[in-house]
Amino acid sequence: MTEDLKFFNELTEFLLQEEQTNPVAAPIPTDQLYSTLDLYLNDEPSPDEDFTQILTGIIKSTPKTASASFFNQLYGGRIGKATLGDLLAVMLNSSMYTYKVAGPHVGIEKTVLHKICDIIGYGKDSDGAFAPGGSMTNYMAMVMARDKFDLTIRNKGVHNKMTLYTSATSHYSIPKNASFMGIGRDHVRFIKINSLGEMCTEDLEVQIQNDLTEGNQPFMVNATAGTTVLGAFDDIQSISSICKTYNLWLHVDGAYCGSVIFSNTYKHLVKGLELSDSFSVNAHKMLGTPLTCSMVVVKDKQHLHQSFSNDAEYLYQTADDEFNLGKTSLQCGRRNDALKLWTLWKSVGTNGLEKIVDRQFEMANIARDYIIHNSDYTLYNFEESISVCFNYKDINPKELCTALYDSSQLMVGYGTFKEIEFVRLVTINTTLRKADILNFFKTLENFVSQKLWMIGIVLSA
Ligand SMILES: *Cc1c(COP(=O)(O)O)cnc(C)c1O
Repeated sequence: MTEDLKFFNELTEFLLQEEQTNPVAAPIPTDQLYSTLDLYLNDEPSPDEDFTQILTGIIKSTPKTASASFFNQLYGGRIGKATLGDLLAVMLNSSMYTYKVAGPHVGIEKTVLHKICDIIGYGKDSDGAFAPGGSMTNYMAMVMARDKFDLTIRNKGVHNKMTLYTSATSHYSIPKNASFMGIGRDHVRFIKINSLGEMCTEDLEVQIQNDLTEGNQPFMVNATAGTTVLGAFDDIQSISSICKTYNLWLHVDGAYCGSVIFSNTYKHLVKGLELSDSFSVNAHKMLGTPLTCSMVVVKDKQHLHQSFSNDAEYLYQTADDEFNLGKTSLQCGRRNDALKLWTLWKSVGTNGLEKIVDRQFEMANIARDYIIHNSDYTLYNFEESISVCFNYKDINPKELCTALYDSSQLMVGYGTFKEIEFVRLVTINTTLRKADILNFFKTLENFVSQKLWMIGIVLSA
């Protein structure tokens, strides 16, 4: 093991170097992947030398999500203290279902969840759980909402036309989960959005009334705190009052930008969050922990027990339910995802988390400012969002992003809103500074001026 750890450190050194010298790995065309890298599994062991060479080759070709050239996704960068916690979690290899096996890590997970409940003002009956990703924390919230509406579903299955409401630009996990949980994709109502990408509450109420008239059974609304493309925030307060009127569960999907709860400057974006029934947030997005670190909190913890507990004598042998997290989780064996957030939080404090969040908005403002003052750019202006959407010189954004990637310049993606396609620069990597953001634009401009012909090649390919 000692030798493997030494080897691991060497590989890490190599990776860190690559992130500096080759921040955008040269992509391997899919039809050449298996002929470029030796990924085959053989009957005989791989000689040490080959093993090392293969691993370094894999590292070299892997997209560098922690580099200063990666803006492609809703995560990026690497924060040392969070990575440290995750590496420790791998070494300890605890499974989070029981106190007997996980020991103090149960307390660590509970501390993180209770603190989040405190910050959003959920009150003393609240609690939460970790699940492998925001899609799955949304799933847990949806199952709790379903069971609250009709407890017999747990045993008898869904036997009514239950309907749920989410904005047209909300995350795809909502309809997907509706299919998993027996509600059915056809019973998800996609509510219109306004010009800022926020759910249109008038339309929400119209749709609910339509369903009631048709004999359907509305049971929940999903509001989004940071939509996946624009980073828009639905108006929780207005949605909440509709939910109260019709007695619907309100979930807030804060997978992307729910971490604004840590910022005094930006928490107004989730005003009224304490009125919701459940809230999900991904620390691996805005808080910069390694993937995955996804939490769902619920105002009344009895719903967690109601939907997720199962007795199992072979598993629950010591301690009470409060300490046996398997009683309130989606999985049985479960990875320790709390430790990395706890090590980060413990080391920088809640004020440090605020700085992490604020930095991303500061970088987004720098990017927007640059775009506004440069006539070659068009900004699709969405203030208070860390998704900066723009186009450059009427160049097709899809072709531009693909050409930048194919020639190892930058990793940045494109998105669409109201039929306009644009480049989406996500300033979620907290380790970046102004110079990195300006360098993004420089790189893009140099690329276009020197290699416009390449875009032509991609176009005709
Ligand atoms: C990223 C995202 C999710 C899904 O989270 P995963 O951890 O990728 O499963 C859900 N909702 C929103 C709004 C997101 O941005």
